[in-house]
Amino acid sequence: MSSNFTIQRKCAYCKQTFNAKTTVTRFCGKLCNKRFNATKQRNEKIEAEYRQPSILSAQVMQFVKNVEFLDTQKAALLLGVSRSFIYHLINTGKLVAYNLFIRRTIILKSDIERLFQSRTLAIPLSKKQVRKMPRIDDFYNMGEIHEKFKISDAAIYNLIKRNNIDKFQVGRFIYVAKKNIDSILLNQI
Ligand SMILES: [Zn+2]
Repeated sequence: MSSNFTIQRKCAYCKQTFNAKTTVTRFCGKLCNKRFNATKQRNEKIEAEYRQPSILSAQVMQFVKNVEFLDTQKAALLLGVSRSFIYHLINTGKLVAYNLFIRRTIILKSDIERLFQSRTLAIPLSKKQVRKMPRIDDFYNMGEIHEKFKISDAAIYNLIKRNNIDKFQVGRFIYVAKKNIDSILLNQI
């Protein structure tokens, strides 16, 4: 009898007005319903991670000892959270990230440690702080090490490998943190 009955309602996901068949219909369609639930689940997961205490275990500290910068996966490992949570921290401005080049985001270990020490995970900051490039002055490329320390490329690679120093590539250049290299080579001179 009431098959033509419709009521104007606002979709709980896309906020568009639609013709609902019942007064309790919340979504304009299955897709919005699905997306709403996915968003809700994601938010619940993020909230759970905020509550989870971060512990920098000795094992993890050993793993990142000679590393000055981390990709999102290692950052997640260091903080004991998921990778999506690291992205959440970046997108909400709690963690500074650098987009070195397409498809790779790095985070300075010092920023992770600062975050950990400050215990301000739950305090929202207002501005998104994703920067385009790291302070490139903090890094050497291979040619610069070669010039400064007068050692061969092979010796440099050997040194990087032996000391488990983290490196990253931008275009043709491979970069390592000056701090890592200086701490080893300046002591030898
Ligand atoms: Zn909708």
